Amino acid sequence: MAVPKIGGQQLQVDPSQAVARECVCGCPYFKEVYRVAIISKFAPGNKTNQDITMRTPVYICLDCGEELFPAGEKKEEGDGEG
Ligand SMILES: [Zn+2]
Repeated sequence: MAVPKIGGQQLQVDPSQAVARECVCGCPYFKEVYRVAIISKFAPGNKTNQDITMRTPVYICLDCGEELFPAGEKKEEGDGEG
């Protein structure tokens, strides 16, 4: 599995192009937490003979605890009626 390397090099970016993300509740503050999953040593794809712990960093809203979805990975939202 190829994982893009992030954080190894300094990227030249223009801070003025940054777009602030807000939670659905309007809160602009988030904290980084980890979503944890275990791949059992009995799982067919696990050849290591031991449980594997996977951590996925996610951001959750400080106010309501809702997870912040990365840009381009929005929740499906139908056009509301009424
Ligand atoms: Zn929130």
